[in-house]
Order: sequence, then C-alpha cells, then structure tokens
Amino acid sequence: MAHDVAAGPHRGRLAIRNLGLVLSGDLDAPLLDADAILVVDGRISAIGKAGDLDLDGAEMEIDAKGSAICPGLIDSHCHPVFGDWTPRQNQLGWIEMGVNGGVTTLVSAGEVHLPGRPKDAVGVKALAITAQRCFQNFRPAGAKVIAGAPVPELDFGREVYEELKASGIRHIGEIGLGTVAKGPDAKRVVDWCRELGLESIMHTGGPSIAGSHFVNRDDVLEAQPDVVSHINGGPTSIAHAHIRELCEKAKGALEVVHNGNERSALVALEAALEAGRLADLLIGTDAPAGSGVQPNGVLRMITLLSSLGGLPVEQAFCLATGNVARTRRLDAGLIAAGMPADFVFLDKPQHSAGKDLLEAVSFGDIPGIGMVMIDGLIRTGRSRSTPPSNTAPVVLGH
Ligand SMILES: [Zn+2]
Repeated sequence: MAHDVAAGPHRGRLAIRNLGLVLSGDLDAPLLDADAILVVDGRISAIGKAGDLDLDGAEMEIDAKGSAICPGLIDSHCHPVFGDWTPRQNQLGWIEMGVNGGVTTLVSAGEVHLPGRPKDAVGVKALAITAQRCFQNFRPAGAKVIAGAPVPELDFGREVYEELKASGIRHIGEIGLGTVAKGPDAKRVVDWCRELGLESIMHTGGPSIAGSHFVNRDDVLEAQPDVVSHINGGPTSIAHAHIRELCEKAKGALEVVHNGNERSALVALEAALEAGRLADLLIGTDAPAGSGVQPNGVLRMITLLSSLGGLPVEQAFCLATGNVARTRRLDAGLIAAGMPADFVFLDKPQHSAGKDLLEAVSFGDIPGIGMVMIDGLIRTGRSRSTPPSNTAPVVLGH
C-alpha cells in the first residue's frame, strides 16, 4: 500500500514513442493522428508523429510497443473518507486499486461514510475542509482526490455556504444525502451555490445505504443542480420515462455510475443521444458502495456503454475523461498540449476475440492496462486489476 505525500510533477523531458492509438478524451476529435508525446515537467508539451516532434534530449524515454494511450480516467462520483481506507467495506487500498483500473482523478460526492459523521453546520464544515486539505497532502498511488464535499442540511443558512466557499471548498456533496432533498429546499441551496460559485450535485433515485432520501424527477427539475448525480440510480433507479425526461429537461450534467442500475444507464445513454447531449454525459462509480469497490468500475462502464449501448468506444472514453473535466472544470481529462501528463497505456486483453483495443471493448472485453502515469510519474506497471494487456510499454534504458 503506497502512502504518497503529494509530490511535485515529474521534472524534465519525457518522450513517449510507438503509440498504436491515441484516445484524446475530446468528443469532437476522440482519435488523434499521432504516435508520440513529449512531456515537459509533468505536462504535455506536444503530440504528433515522432518524425515531426523534437523528442531529443529527453531524460526518460518510453517505448509504448504499440499500446494505446488515453487520458487518466476521472471517477465523477465516489465517496472517500480519509486516507486510502473505506469504512463502507472496511477495506484498505481501494484508491490505489482504482489507479490500477486507470483512474487518476476522483471527485468526492460527500465524505458520508465517516462513522458518526457530523450533521451540524460547524461539524459539516470542519469535516469538508479537513477532508479537502488531507487529500491535497495525500495522494494514494498518486491519485488526485478532489474531496471536501459538504452535505446540505435543512438548518444551514446561506452563510454556511459562504464560509465553505471562502474556505476553498469547490463543490457540495450530494443534495439528498442529508435532510435537504425535496424540490423547493434543494432549489434554494442550488441557487445559493450558483450565486457563490459552488458546484452543486444531487442524488437521484431511491435511498442509498448511507441513509439518503428518495429524490425524484420533479425534485431534480425544480432544483436544476449542476450535476444530476447517478441518473441511473444510486443504486435504485427512477422510472425509465423519468430518466428520459431528465435527459431532455435537466440543465446540468447527466451522470451514470457503475454502482447504479445498468439497464437504466443504457436508457440514459439512449436518451442523452436523442437529446443531442452526449457531451453532458459523465461516468462515475459511486464507490465504495454496498456492492463493493470495483477497481475497474470506470472501465466497466465504458465497456457497458459501448458493447451493449452501441456507443463508439473512442467516444465512450470521453465520458470518463474530457466530458467530466469540461463540465466539472478539472485540470485533467484530455491529451492536449498544456494538460497534465496523466496517462493510461492500454490495449486489448490477451486472447480477446477483438482484433484491437477498440474492437475488444466493443465486444464487451475489459481492456488491459500496461502502465498508469500521473503528472509524468509512473504509478503502475502492468495493472493488478485488469486482465493482462496484449502489449505494454517499456522504459528504455531500464
Ligand atoms: Zn447518491
């Protein structure tokens, strides 16, 4: 179990060659015509054909051996507490295992699994600020955990949100996990957050094990949060017709999670496509949950939406990378100049019936990961959670 204090990014020049496929994370151009990337001081400096780039003088060189590369995956919805421990499953190392599943950034939807979590304003503020500060200083296997998501309660006035904003908190936890759940109350909180520049997210569907309330279509439509959290249920789904209505009328991002209802996730995909809103569709896990922690949860959602939902694989990857980063304003999620060098090297799993990564995933096979890099630092070699990838990168000179 790695307990890495947040370190700076990789220093110097890093050259990556022989990429077989570059998935950009950008829905407008999900595949790039490139086979090499130059990283300088932990950020992408240039992408293109090796012959067109100045890759000389790199202190480190990686031969991708034909592997594909995608931006580090972003889990739009998880419930960390402190460190790399989850009291929900009494499990250690779940975030590190998530990195093995290609996740390099995790967004907290509330630190609600803390045993005996406070519900008074002072306690909720203290917990959120402490969680945020702790994860700024502590990155399990290098993962960037964006924590500090206070859960709204009915007796919190506007001043509570003002203080949270002033303390550096960027988003609230799921509306509906506390006593604020119904339309008018939720709308009041969302309006305050919007005025203050706090991002708002809202539980959707039946109650979860954490003791949340039922939040239905009408509550979401009245509140209009920035993110409709787990539109496919967390884990209990609203009716398919109501999912379709939210995909048309809810203004915020639409999130589907691994620990939700899988059939409802496919309904949400179909409805989002019909509404021309694929760019608003996000992938999360809602891990840890009653059904456990799945290190491959984000990869499994990408595979579900492409293999059963018919979404082109290169677009499905965008739902867990560029879409999340753009709608939630994160410094991540794209293979583009200036972005952090958060990379997943991946390929079809060995002996897949698919001829390459894209076909394997479209057949429903989970990809194999050969390496994960965060801020230019290698954080895993061959994954401990995916099947073995057909190819894996090697570090030259080592
Ligand atoms: Zn929820």
